[in-house]
Amino acid sequence: MTRNRTVTEIIRIDSYFDGTTYHRDGPYEIAITATRITAVQSCGSSLDSDSDRAHTATCYRAGFAMPGLVEGHAHLFLNGDDLDPASRAEFLKAPLDTKMVAARRNLRQSLEKGITLIRDAGDKFGVNHALRGEAVASATPLPAVRSAGLGIRRPGRYGAFMAYEAKDDAEIETVVSRIAAEGADDLKIIQTGIIDFVSGRVKGDPQFDLPALSLIVSAAKQRGLKTFAHCSGRAGLEVAVRAGVDSIEHGFFMNRETLQRMADLGTAWVPTFSPVHFQWTEPQIAGWDDATVGKLRSILDDHLAQVALADELGVNLVAGSDAGSQGVSHGSGLIDELYFMLDAGVSVASVLESATSRPRRCWGTNATALRRGATADIVLLKGNPFQDASHLRDIVAVFKDGVPVVVGTNQASHHG
Ligand SMILES: [Zn+2]
Repeated sequence: MTRNRTVTEIIRIDSYFDGTTYHRDGPYEIAITATRITAVQSCGSSLDSDSDRAHTATCYRAGFAMPGLVEGHAHLFLNGDDLDPASRAEFLKAPLDTKMVAARRNLRQSLEKGITLIRDAGDKFGVNHALRGEAVASATPLPAVRSAGLGIRRPGRYGAFMAYEAKDDAEIETVVSRIAAEGADDLKIIQTGIIDFVSGRVKGDPQFDLPALSLIVSAAKQRGLKTFAHCSGRAGLEVAVRAGVDSIEHGFFMNRETLQRMADLGTAWVPTFSPVHFQWTEPQIAGWDDATVGKLRSILDDHLAQVALADELGVNLVAGSDAGSQGVSHGSGLIDELYFMLDAGVSVASVLESATSRPRRCWGTNATALRRGATADIVLLKGNPFQDASHLRDIVAVFKDGVPVVVGTNQASHHG
């Protein structure tokens, strides 16, 4: 049953992005009744008869509207603002309650930055599954959580904090079954190690070869799970894309041949600039020397060029920040990620699509376009990011399932 609310909320804006298309010939009015958008139209035309003016409770004004943002890659239990490696390691040993408190704060913080759906990319403590349940049951609006639970990795390889181990084909079947039975929305595969910034290379060989990864992908498909692979470096990327994973996460050291295959197959790419960019901006924290800072810069420059090429080839770019990683805050990390894609030369419309309709389409989840009939997950900005991208940080209000979460008090004018 939907909430017992018959009032209609009206939003007046100058321009908006509906998830795929930019509408600039405003002013426009958006009407929300209960959880849904009941009208989107130019001001002056009369609203749909369902939206009885007499019951209009609130009117919001803003420069620009777009659908609620999607964070494509986050670790909700981890606090990205904790920069100290020792304290981060200690936190992994903290009781579950402590991790839940951090995760709830990260979820609320994400909503305040306009995020209404988050794909959690793994934790072994079950915080992501628990938080997904809390978000559904919450009396106050929270972002929806798409939760991977634990992922899958080879024994002793990278990913201990977020994955089960599978040493052979039999264990692959067992582990994928278990992850599905525990309620995962997606299967997270740890396909490669992390990047060694000193050498500027990915550590070690790919964890899974083509037959093993193909088995994982088919086992996941049989259980209705999409797959997303932590993967960087030429060798790992080639195996992951050939095996048919649905999404490449990070994907550093990308190349044209792999991108072309991804474009042909519809494979998504979540480039997660933020964690590497943080290492480059704050090298003193990890103690990187000048040579390593140079390596970091060239990795980022190559990544920018590959993202531009991906966009040109029609790869499904999806915005995701790896929030929770050292130096990557929940919420603002995603906005930074949008700026990195703009820096790469991706158009404003494609960047906004990468954080709204495109991930929802790739994941086959509830659409929230700014159209009549859609769920009312809406972000209001003070100004138009097509004219000035800095407006992506000027949030006036966020609506989740039709409920307003007013963020700014200075910009929003709402009269009863
Ligand atoms: Zn991650």
